[in-house]
Amino acid sequence: MKMEINDKMDGVVKKDGKLRAFSSDNVYLAPSPAAEDGGEKVGKLPREIPTAALQALGGPQSPIKAIRAKCIDCSGGYAAEARKCVAITCALWPFRMGYNPFYAKGNEGVSAE
Ligand code: SF4
Repeated sequence: MKMEINDKMDGVVKKDGKLRAFSSDNVYLAPSPAAEDGGEKVGKLPREIPTAALQALGGPQSPIKAIRAKCIDCSGGYAAEARKCVAITCALWPFRMGYNPFYAKGNEGVSAE
């Protein structure tokens, strides 16, 4: 599905023919509701941000793809290193290859106990 973004959309600009988002813009940030933060800006809840603005950030649009991207980033940008990751206590480790192994066929009834 092709996305249409209004040139005047707050926080999104066209640069070199590509859509970019300002990370410091009010589309993504708002004053903290917690008094102890003294009005400092914090990230808005994603559900409060227009979908087009989220898409303009250019990141993955599914949790599993986001995990895969994070693991490659954590591995210095090398997918092969994410494959070899030995940090088995990391919460993302089972998902680092970009799929959910808990949904794999043949795992039904398997328990870690
Ligand atoms: S599983 Fe954890 S430690 Fe390993 S690459 Fe992913 S984020 Fe980094």
